[in-house]
Amino acid sequence: MSEEKFKKIISHAKEYGFIFQSSDIYDGLSAVYDYGQNGVHLKNNIKDYWWKSMVQLNDNIVGIDSAIFSHPTTWKSSGHLDAFNDPLIDNKDSKKRYRADNLIEDFIQKIENKLIKELNKQKKRFGVKFDEKTFLSTNERALKYTNQIDELKSRFKKALNNDNLSELKNIISDNNIICPVSGSSNWTDVKQFNLMFKTQVGASKESSSDLYLRPETAQGIFLNYLNVQKTGRMKIPFGIAQIGKAFRNEIVARQFIFRMREFEQMEMQFFIKPGEQKKWYEYWKENRMKWHLSLGIKGDNYKFHDHEKLAHYADAACDIEFNFPFGFKELEGIHSRTNFDLSNHEKFSSKQIKYFDPLDQSKYTPYVVETSIGLDRMFLAIFSNSLITEKLDGGSERIVLKIPKILAPNKCAILPLVKKDGLSEYANNIKDKLKIKFKLTYDEKDAIGRRYRRQDALGTPYCITIDHQSIEDNTVTVRERDSMKQERIKVDLIEEFLVKSLDISNWLQ
Ligand code: ATP
Repeated sequence: MSEEKFKKIISHAKEYGFIFQSSDIYDGLSAVYDYGQNGVHLKNNIKDYWWKSMVQLNDNIVGIDSAIFSHPTTWKSSGHLDAFNDPLIDNKDSKKRYRADNLIEDFIQKIENKLIKELNKQKKRFGVKFDEKTFLSTNERALKYTNQIDELKSRFKKALNNDNLSELKNIISDNNIICPVSGSSNWTDVKQFNLMFKTQVGASKESSSDLYLRPETAQGIFLNYLNVQKTGRMKIPFGIAQIGKAFRNEIVARQFIFRMREFEQMEMQFFIKPGEQKKWYEYWKENRMKWHLSLGIKGDNYKFHDHEKLAHYADAACDIEFNFPFGFKELEGIHSRTNFDLSNHEKFSSKQIKYFDPLDQSKYTPYVVETSIGLDRMFLAIFSNSLITEKLDGGSERIVLKIPKILAPNKCAILPLVKKDGLSEYANNIKDKLKIKFKLTYDEKDAIGRRYRRQDALGTPYCITIDHQSIEDNTVTVRERDSMKQERIKVDLIEEFLVKSLDISNWLQ
């Protein structure tokens, strides 16, 4: 997808009240965004869909809502104070700051794109006769690209795992990776940069102590493991889910709501018996992919990607990547976190955090498999994938936001054809009856065609139009967003129709 398309997505999000740059009137605050009158509903609906699938459908998963602040030792125990760093590099000419790992990843992706382009060219040329395997193992150019990718990946992985910052710089120099702004390869050395925001609690300087804005919601779950396990009489395996804000002082934050400094996470920590982590890791990988696919977005937009470098707490980790407007990037992480967090909290707090297993009388610190998805990234995935410009018969175009219907900010729009002749009153009556069950909108301005376009652009699944015939025979026209098909139904049946079409259980199953 082109940069042009991405710009369209951003401006559509603003124009239709989905997302605004934070502090707009002061020229904005970098990498911080506000959700507008329509965005907030789309966001809440995504949360609801995730929450229901985790907490309502799983008998052994409960939810909590922990505070953003926690005792500062939390971040010592979790390793974030020492190791929650990103490798930073500056370009001396443009004065722009980058993550060294991202520069290398993007470079690798560029070569991969070249290989894909070559493959597609050959596929087109030879059609069904094309043998991809033979081509990849014999074609000179394909071999060159494949070797280059393999070599780079293995060198990159080694450098990351050894925290070898000078090697990261060498990879950038040896491959002549340039700054996209200045076009130069005049780089500084690579430095570590801690991503946590620090603040102070307490009124006076003497009595104040350092606090951190949480960089992940997971620690609030670990701190409450004992509370929930005991008060909820939870038996392992069980999970604790949470949705909440997280904060990271990201080095580079240029991709709209993909990388923000204040964002929201939907995380679930699944506590298990040590030794069972592989089984549960595979289980949650499959389960989470199913959840994504249940929304009806085409499967080839998602792929798994194993981590090149495991985080300080993990023994296995992968991402579910999504085909964002700027390529495949991480949408969700699935991590096998061992007992790293709980045993460290045990050590630093001197409190026993053990589980007594009544089945075999064993006592252990539980292992954890976590699923962690960025709510804002999920929003972007849905929004960017759904925004479509369609050519219509007769040559005109319409812009339509084909978001999964159950996530739409408004489930229907009530549109009286004209304001006069009692149509407004009739339409308002329908609105008042339906609004108890559904979030909807009412619009009586402009010609009906323009109003349909406005609702298409907002992603409203159904438009209900009231005309003169409605008053005579109590029927209305229902127009469906994607097909633009219209059908006449009895007023009394609208509610039943909407309930049936928008039943969340049809999607969650
Ligand atoms: P990345 O490699 O893109 O920085 P990460 O691996 O650090 O992400 P995790 O720590 O695994 O991310 O966080 C879990 C999820 O939280 C991510 O999959 C992503 O959806 C979301 N997330 C992380 N950082 C941000 C951010 N700065 N803005 C928006 N969402 C984020």
